[in-house]
Amino acid sequence: MSALLDVKGIETFYGPSQALFGVDLEVGEGEVVALMGRNGMGKTTTISSICGLEKYRSGDVVFKGEDLKTLPSHKIARLGIGLVPEGRRCFPNLTVYENLIAAARTGDWTLDRVSTLFPRLKERFSQYANTLSGGEQQMLAVGRALMTNPDLLILDEATEGLAPVIRQEIWQAVRSLKETGQSILIVDKTLSELLPIADHCIILEKGTTVWKGKPEELTRDIENRYLGV
Ligand code: ATP
Repeated sequence: MSALLDVKGIETFYGPSQALFGVDLEVGEGEVVALMGRNGMGKTTTISSICGLEKYRSGDVVFKGEDLKTLPSHKIARLGIGLVPEGRRCFPNLTVYENLIAAARTGDWTLDRVSTLFPRLKERFSQYANTLSGGEQQMLAVGRALMTNPDLLILDEATEGLAPVIRQEIWQAVRSLKETGQSILIVDKTLSELLPIADHCIILEKGTTVWKGKPEELTRDIENRYLGV
């Protein structure tokens, strides 16, 4: 059976400077895949390339059997990829409610379901997004992506810079999404939270996939070589 998302050998440039030199990754239906690697190794560029925010020059990205190469980002989103970008971008001058419905597509994810996942958001429906705490904005970013009813949810550093108690709420939400069978591609530095929920791991080093495997196959040696500081 073919994967939900199949990325093969993509190469992406920023102007003349090459950032990706051949990234391979797959996400199967219902899987959580952890995309790992030290700072600057190409995780965000890979995600941007998948979502059409940066164009890859060679290689292939196939999602639900469709080649994404020539599609603009809004069409890729409409095909069913929900992105929670690094730095949680919400519309600051819209309320929580307006942010959530702005991106909504019909499906299992509704305002009620997002409110159950993040009760804090429901209490703040009429508040402007720019008055939320960082953690609440992150919940809103996840809620917005879910409201698009994505087949694949992509989370780029969703817990970065948040207070421990809020991080726990986000991780709890990710675990419950996994239980519902949501397919997820996730980047996060907290391996102690990430590895227990990951079905597969991909490690990038200097813009190339250097290791793929299950979390239990990730040895101390590989961790030191590719993930250590
Ligand atoms: P981090 O964890 O720090 O976000 P990352 O693994 O996501 O790192 P990328 O942000 O994808 O890595 O960066 C990969 C390479 O591309 C780096 O060398 C980085 O300096 C470069 N790069 C990223 N964004 C740009 C940009 N907008 N213009 C030029 N070079 C960039």
